[in-house]
Amino acid sequence: MSSNRDDDCIFCAIVDGDIPARIVRETDHTVAFLDANPLAPGHTLVVPRDHHERVADLPEAVSETLFSEVTQLVPRAEAAVDADGLNVGINDGSAAGQEVPHVHVHVVPRFDGDGGAPIHAVAGERPDLSEAELDDIADAIERGGR
Ligand code: AMP
Ligand code: ZN
Repeated sequence: MSSNRDDDCIFCAIVDGDIPARIVRETDHTVAFLDANPLAPGHTLVVPRDHHERVADLPEAVSETLFSEVTQLVPRAEAAVDADGLNVGINDGSAAGQEVPHVHVHVVPRFDGDGGAPIHAVAGERPDLSEAELDDIADAIERGGR
């Protein structure tokens, strides 16, 4: 049961068993289920039971258990479909392609010669940044903002 359910959220409904899903693993803090529109066989989503929209919203303990569960799930998904590798990723925010506003980790099995792309392909045109701009950006990240 989610302790902070959003009644409009499809993943909260899956967590609470109100809509069907092919659940593959459950822990006290996470649920993993097959993506309904898979990019590859074995495409699995791992979600925290609690409703949080963005990665930065996750309490530290939830974040830790989420990644821990991803670590458990990855070899299982890989073995289940005899994959050669996997992409693990989060669309965080609508600009990044997030459609369901409940944090979820995509685990996407990959196969030699499957015609897909690495995670480097997700962004737009690569920026041409000067040394000074790179220094400014590194400083801003270190400070936690501009
Ligand atoms: P994102 O763009 O990262 O928000 O991805 C949302 C993912 O959720 C997509 O890959 C969808 O195929 C998947 N999805 C949406 N509704 C369901 C559902 N009811 N059960 C399983 N997966 C779903
Ligand atoms: Zn939710």
